[in-house]
Amino acid sequence: MKKIEKLYLLLTILVGLLVVSCGEKDEGKRLIMVTEATFPPYEFYRGADIVGIDADIVREVARRNGLQPVIEDMSFDSVITAVQSGKADVAASGITVTEDRRRQIDFTRSYARAQQVIIVPTGSGVTGADGLANVRLGVQHGTTGDLYVTQHIGEPERFSNGALAVAALAAGKLDAVVLDSAPAREHVSGNPSLRILDEALTSEEYAMAISKQRPDLLEMFNRTLAAMEADDTLARITETYMNPEGAEKKVKSDSGLRTRLADAWYTNFVKDDRWKYLLNGFLVTIEISLAAVALGVILGFLVAVVRSTHDQTGRFRLLNILCHAYLTVIRGTPVVVQLLIIYFVIFGSVDVSKVLVAIVAFGVNSGAYVAEIIRSGIMSVDRGQMEAGRSLGLSYGCTMRSVILPQAFKNVLPALGNEFIVLLKETSVCGYIALQDLTKGGDIIRSQTYDAFLPLMAVALIYLMLVVCLSWLLKKLELRLKKNER
Ligand code: GLN
Repeated sequence: MKKIEKLYLLLTILVGLLVVSCGEKDEGKRLIMVTEATFPPYEFYRGADIVGIDADIVREVARRNGLQPVIEDMSFDSVITAVQSGKADVAASGITVTEDRRRQIDFTRSYARAQQVIIVPTGSGVTGADGLANVRLGVQHGTTGDLYVTQHIGEPERFSNGALAVAALAAGKLDAVVLDSAPAREHVSGNPSLRILDEALTSEEYAMAISKQRPDLLEMFNRTLAAMEADDTLARITETYMNPEGAEKKVKSDSGLRTRLADAWYTNFVKDDRWKYLLNGFLVTIEISLAAVALGVILGFLVAVVRSTHDQTGRFRLLNILCHAYLTVIRGTPVVVQLLIIYFVIFGSVDVSKVLVAIVAFGVNSGAYVAEIIRSGIMSVDRGQMEAGRSLGLSYGCTMRSVILPQAFKNVLPALGNEFIVLLKETSVCGYIALQDLTKGGDIIRSQTYDAFLPLMAVALIYLMLVVCLSWLLKKLELRLKKNER
């Protein structure tokens, strides 16, 4: 009985600590900007910071209005939703003004012009827009490029960001990519095997998006942007980023394999401290997984006890119905959808840290599976054990705690271990809410180096090592419990 109680206590403390550590400090009034940070020169990572034209403009707007800027990275198709739902104040992500978008949100005055251009491999047979029919065409999901291609050319292949589409083009998996002109130039300047066609598909204007519920904020942005245009601040910021020196040059493919590997190693991990994306991502993955396991085990235990007590004694009718509903809903929907619902709907207008959102989402999800695993453990304990306990004068609760649950726990340990392994790997979908976990860390490197092989291998290897360690720990625990039996 002591052991189980200790376990409860430990897990509760762990979750409590993490919840406290995840709370964000509030220093002054904040201005939250959301963006998709693989869109150079408008937004991209430099080390751990998001920089670029949009980022600098919003930082300056915040400064001039006495606000503290906070920049968050998420997928492009979520930035407008984030503003609408009140999760963010402004979306600045090279967003093209369109009538459809204007129905959802308000646009500030525009601050840049752009075009949708076509990128092809040098020497490609595609020389203009009319050559695009029936070729493998890549776009970034949810952008005006996507819209144009879908409406005028045909179904494209949709990537979560432009850099990945360009990487696929460079790897020969596509024949052309349609992308905004400025990022296209950046991507191509690092890659001599690609070029941009002269003919552009559209001509557009960028503006920032603000919720229709915030006319005051819109007014503030318009006023400040106008002032920044008048005193040339906008032009200066744009100038800083539009002439990138030192764009990455790929090693020529005729250099030896060793040189190429060493160079790829350097570009992917050493240059600009890129290994830090993996290290930080690894820490986030560990933090989320540990706390979610703790939450899942607590929830699972409670639900399993309610359900089996109800089965055996008929008590807890209402609670049992609730638990049943919980299991049905959680096991009936994908974890990514649950994560998005918790982030955008349940915590929609509350400012909570994403790590906490992920812990809740994965913990609640895992709880449902843990509950059924533990219930099966409880059922596997011989009924006679309960009767024996009760005839010794122990109460139902006491027999459950000190006789049934410890045995049940031991029986289901392998299944529980399996659940933890699944959970650890499932956290890789955190990128959907732009949390920089291990997988997302690899993605960011990929979007900067256009190399798929090394970042993906590194990420896979780290997960594998984690799972091997976890399995080893579980095995030790199992052996330990077995020893105690004797
Ligand atoms: N300008 C394009 C759009 O608004 C793409 C923007 C982006 O990918 N960040 O759809």
